[in-house]
Amino acid sequence: MNISLQGMGMTSLRTRERMIKRLSEQGIKNQRVLEVMRDTPRHIFMDEALSSRAYEDTALPIGYNQTISQPYIVARMTELLLETTGHLEKVLEIGTGCGYQTAILSPFVDRVYSVERILPLQRKARTHIGELKLKNISYLYNDGNVGWPEYAPFNGIIASAAPSEIPFQLIQQLAIGGVMVIPVGVNGQQMLQRVTRKTSGYEVEEIEPVTFVPFLSGKE
Ligand code: SAH
Repeated sequence: MNISLQGMGMTSLRTRERMIKRLSEQGIKNQRVLEVMRDTPRHIFMDEALSSRAYEDTALPIGYNQTISQPYIVARMTELLLETTGHLEKVLEIGTGCGYQTAILSPFVDRVYSVERILPLQRKARTHIGELKLKNISYLYNDGNVGWPEYAPFNGIIASAAPSEIPFQLIQQLAIGGVMVIPVGVNGQQMLQRVTRKTSGYEVEEIEPVTFVPFLSGKE
């Protein structure tokens, strides 16, 4: 790894190891998720001015009024998605953002299908993920409300923006036995939910209160 990927000082492996320790103290149990987060440089996903804060447990701005999710949330959502299977064939991600969550998902799935409604953010994500040489990702610039019907059904769906209600078309694209991890609710009062599609109907689990940017409509 070259020095900018590997990091130094506040972006070093040592700093990431401290982040991992904190995540396990916060209750993250999936060791593989922790390992992947230890080995993935988070600082390359954000502007250089903020890279020294990349491993703090906080959401940070990535431009266009959006934020990179805090490490705990990325870890928790990934863990929730993988809990029943450990490996998934096809995962749909709504809200590529800077691409960090996408990169963390990549080793656990055959293919990630990632949708983003802000084109410059999608471009940034592609560049960062390209630096890490992750190849199993397909990108779509579109309104995630409609999912990605061409590749449905998905074994997993993960959303990093909060709708007031789960978009109907998204839930329809979940395979039987598949799980969706999504924050639901209006500003300041969102609940992270895990929805499992059963042979008939859905099971909904309320996981914990969270704060996400809103799930918006249309493209920018
Ligand atoms: N996982 C990303 C989170 C970025 S913030 C990261 O860690 O960087 C949430 C993202 O969801 C933003 O990039 C926002 O543009 C996107 N988003 C919000 N509503 C969307 C929609 N309807 N379709 C696609 N993307 C959406």
